[in-house]
Amino acid sequence: MSTTHATTLLAPNGATYPPPASNALVQARSLTRIWGKGDSAQIGIAEVDLDLQRGEMLAIVGPSGSGKSTLGAILAGIDSPTSGSLVVDGGRVDNLKRDRLALWRGSNVGIVFQNFSLLPTLTAAENVELALTLSGRRKNRHAAALSSLGAVGMLEKAKRLPAQLSGGEQQRVAIARAIVGRPALLVADEPTGNLDQANGHAVFGILTGLASSGTTVVFITHDLLLAAQADRVVTMIDGRVHDITAKAAL
Ligand code: ADP
Ligand code: MG
Repeated sequence: MSTTHATTLLAPNGATYPPPASNALVQARSLTRIWGKGDSAQIGIAEVDLDLQRGEMLAIVGPSGSGKSTLGAILAGIDSPTSGSLVVDGGRVDNLKRDRLALWRGSNVGIVFQNFSLLPTLTAAENVELALTLSGRRKNRHAAALSSLGAVGMLEKAKRLPAQLSGGEQQRVAIARAIVGRPALLVADEPTGNLDQANGHAVFGILTGLASSGTTVVFITHDLLLAAQADRVVTMIDGRVHDITAKAAL
């Protein structure tokens, strides 16, 4: 190692200088979402500061009504904060108008909900393809859908309708739909909430695999055992970040 080089990078206090540019995919500052005014104001989240690294899996836990879904919806571009800033991949997202926000979401975020929300009259493959159609992709939709279904172990059941799939399988299709556009960020709001333990673990395993391959995953859950396996756990209470713990190094 060159000592000369090292000296030029060290500030007097020993910190590297200039500070490394933040590599965080998501930078949330003082994110606040309030409905209504005055005495009748409902606080969704208040003053949330959070950075999410690329390839990180962040679990969000907390009691019912603590703001988990509100935070997830804002990070996913489903909703906008009433104040604060949200920067994703270097671009401001908090101040986008509804139409622009929807466009941004379509090409940057995958979203998975508790209730799968597949269209019942479309096959698994068609449900996944539809996500590409809606985001304006013209070419190779079918091949991309099959590849995405393969990534979640659902290729063999690509032609089935949702009603012909178990809950765990439907959720895997929903994940395939969420990742088919290769989003940098995946927000999953209680994706294991309707699943038995085995299927919940399988879905969680798929999400951790996505994080390992570089997707930033936000995993909202009531399952503290699963949450503890994420890289970090944010606990929300009354709309605020109560604490953030990092997974202990093995
Ligand atoms: P969680 O997902 O942790 O159960 P939520 O984020 O859904 O919590 O809700 C946080 C708080 O925000 C709750 O008090 C809830 O009633 C309130 N809230 C959520 N959505 C709305 C809304 N559209 N209008 C008014 N209040 C809302
Ligand atoms: Mg919720």
